[in-house]
Amino acid sequence: MPRVNRLPRHDWVPVLLRTLRNLTWVVLASVAISYGILEIFSQGLGSTGLVAAIVAPIALAGPTMLFMALRHRQLEIAYERLEAAAARDSLTQCLNHGAFVDEVTALLEDPATRGGGLLVIDADHFKSINDRFGHACGDAALKMIAATIRSVIRETDIVGRLGGEEFGIFLPGAGEAATRIVAQDLRLRIRNVTFDTGGEPCRLSISVGGAVCTQATPFGSLFRHADAQLYAVKNAGRDNVAVSTFASEGAEQVSSAVPVLVYSERKAVNS
Ligand code: GH3
Ligand code: MG
Ligand code: MG
Repeated sequence: MPRVNRLPRHDWVPVLLRTLRNLTWVVLASVAISYGILEIFSQGLGSTGLVAAIVAPIALAGPTMLFMALRHRQLEIAYERLEAAAARDSLTQCLNHGAFVDEVTALLEDPATRGGGLLVIDADHFKSINDRFGHACGDAALKMIAATIRSVIRETDIVGRLGGEEFGIFLPGAGEAATRIVAQDLRLRIRNVTFDTGGEPCRLSISVGGAVCTQATPFGSLFRHADAQLYAVKNAGRDNVAVSTFASEGAEQVSSAVPVLVYSERKAVNS
């Protein structure tokens, strides 16, 4: 993590503004107090007294206030960085499960997003990658999957590591066709990558389940639908994609159509 002791130039603006604001209050208080005291106990403030009431607090408190404003900004930056780091999975740099759910939930609840596509991605037979090539290779494979995911999405899409060898992507505002294209593109890219294990080359594959909504939908409902699609892909043989639209009221009915959708996806892939 970069040090925060050296502030970038643009961060000096809020530091100086904070110092100026605080000094203004102190000077005003100094003038008011000096005026009160000198009016009551002496012959009034006068121009010399006024200058002294302004200059003294600036000279005495100015450097301390500048230092405190600087420290305040440094702490703010450190906190922002810690917060960002805590939201990320350290291996893949994707959002962690909690941060992913929070961000997608916020987008789903925002009517301006107009729904979107949620993809749940699970690496196939990943246990055997660890068993054959070791855990470090498994970790490298997970990083490769995360990098490939980043290569197929837009900047506005959200990627999270949901746990283990499972990832989530949310495509705000995407319809069923666009969501399916992203899922297929990702699946094919991962299948075409030859993973270097330091000896025997290894290929990976993923299974993808997707759910699409066109209106505000609870994250849990959308996720369960996508997960059911993923489950169907796994049962149908893996290395495939199933995406369908989630209709809030007929959710169960849509889920029961999964095997048919998986079959049509397989035909599309093989053709
Ligand atoms: P399936 O096709 O049914 O998904 O089979 P699978 O082997 O991928 O699934 P399973 O749930 O049996 O095993 C998941 C494996 O993922 C087991 C676990 O060791 C591995 N795994 C989970 N997290 C990590 C990780 O951070 N690093 C590595 N190297 N392996 C991980
Ligand atoms: Mg798996
Ligand atoms: Mg899994």
